Amino acid sequence: MSAIELKTTAPDLPSDKPGSAASLTPELRPPMPVDHLERVETWGMNASALTYVYRPSTVEGVREVFEIARRHGLKVGLRGAGRSYGDASLTAENIGLDLTRMNRILAWDPRTGVITVEPGVTLRQMWQYAIGDGWWPPVVSGTMFVTMGGAAGMNFHGKNNFKLGPLGEHILEFDLLLPTGEVVLCSREQNRDLFFAAIGGFGMLGCFVRLTLQLKKVCSGLLSVYAFSTRSLRHMMEEFEQRRDAADYLVGWIDCFARGKSLGRGLAHEARYLHEGEDANPAQTLRVEKQELPDTLFGLIPKSLMWRAMRPFANNFGMRLLNQAKFTAGNTLGNHKTVRQSHAGFAFLLDYVPDWKFVYKPGGLIQYQSFVPKETAESCFTQQIRICQQEGIVPYLGVFKRHRPDAFLMTHAVDGYSFALDFPMTARNREHLWQLTAKLNEITLQAGGRFYFAKDSTLDSRSAAAYLGEETLNRFFALKQRCDPENLLQTELSKRLFGMMLPSIDDQTV
Ligand SMILES: Cc1cc2nc3c(=O)[nH]c(=O)nc-3n(C[C@H](O)[C@H](O)[C@H](O)COP(=O)(O)OP(=O)(O)OC[C@H]3O[C@@H](n4cnc5c(N)ncnc54)[C@H](O)[C@@H]3O)c2cc1C
Repeated sequence: MSAIELKTTAPDLPSDKPGSAASLTPELRPPMPVDHLERVETWGMNASALTYVYRPSTVEGVREVFEIARRHGLKVGLRGAGRSYGDASLTAENIGLDLTRMNRILAWDPRTGVITVEPGVTLRQMWQYAIGDGWWPPVVSGTMFVTMGGAAGMNFHGKNNFKLGPLGEHILEFDLLLPTGEVVLCSREQNRDLFFAAIGGFGMLGCFVRLTLQLKKVCSGLLSVYAFSTRSLRHMMEEFEQRRDAADYLVGWIDCFARGKSLGRGLAHEARYLHEGEDANPAQTLRVEKQELPDTLFGLIPKSLMWRAMRPFANNFGMRLLNQAKFTAGNTLGNHKTVRQSHAGFAFLLDYVPDWKFVYKPGGLIQYQSFVPKETAESCFTQQIRICQQEGIVPYLGVFKRHRPDAFLMTHAVDGYSFALDFPMTARNREHLWQLTAKLNEITLQAGGRFYFAKDSTLDSRSAAAYLGEETLNRFFALKQRCDPENLLQTELSKRLFGMMLPSIDDQTV
């Protein structure tokens, strides 16, 4: 069966039937309060939508929002901090259920490192709470400003995915509030199928209202970080393979402008936790103040101004120069250097310059991240860089990571590598950029690769079905029907990729 045919097996959902609130034409539905209407934007600033935003602070409040949606024949899109690059938490002309006010830490045991949080607790809040007791989140993303509900919704990964897997591997249990109003406790023992599908289920099966996680014991607030340069993609992969047993974290940066013999050159960082006794002063290095990222440059220039200074470089010429300068500095002064760096300093490099994304204004940016098995990764990523160069849309930033497979139903991970590419978007290049990413999709699919909804803006339903496969999608559709029989939970991403499973409002009117 082809990927397209696959979607015809999607369930016939009750909300499509005449008589339900959703089946009423828009004119017959009760009006929504306009004071809830807001323009909501994707993190990459590449799309925005008018949405009725509700910000409940209790589980009961979340339930009420589902009721409101039902009464008005609207859909609900769950939203954490809105840090997904694309439309994963965008819901045009429907309800946006913003969970950021459910931000209480409900329980913490400093002896075991087990923490229970509401979904709107941010990663920042969580590490700041726990680090003084010697615990650090086992998996963190490149920014600390995500919510734990949103992180679980995408099952995010860190620079240690090859070692500790995605966030879901460290979630012990959660309460999932279904749109029907029922709360289901999920763990590896109870409702196991839902546990492995709702984590990474991009907010389609229910709303996490309580999450319990196991944090990682650390005996210092510092990491030992070794920097080295690499000549090519192959060189970087060889280094990663050699180092991955000893390393706790590995991450690479690729200069996507380099051509010919230098194509794929880059810089990499390996980090490892310090052992007991290596840090003479752990009580001090574990203090939140010692982790915080400085808010000035050289103690003088407010970092909030830095994106403005970067702006003149936000063009192909400027970015080629910056990439060249970064590689040269890393290949000379910084090469084969070991330094000690705080956990937050190493993990949240992308938070160093506040609002750096404004450099990409007014058009915004998209990120394209593909995950490719180790056997085909070098050839796939080499082709990707070449095509971008040929098409004249070169990514301003390229980030390389090592991954391992995991047991989550909608997983993006592979036993291989991911390559994340940041592309500027402008009114002029938009169509061309979408055509380019379609070509990149084909190369990725031929290489047996996968994609990641948290980063996606351009994937089409055929490519999504092709990498997920029939069996996975049918299992997911079946769970969707069980958990959300009225098909209330939808986002712009879900409609774009699985539109027929999750019909849009317009499709439903009779
Ligand atoms: C600068 C930057 C760096 C990043 N680095 C990484 C990285 O290193 N690794 C990585 O994996 N990702 C990374 N990301 C992506 C980011 O971690 C994910 O997009 C994450 O899901 C964002 O969390 P959020 O709270 O903003 O969620 P949102 O973006 O608001 O939502 C994410 C998804 O979760 C759903 N959702 C939200 N809340 C809930 C809930 N309570 N219950 C159920 N579903 C819910 C939403 O519907 C949506 O589908 C990065 C993003 C940025 C901007």
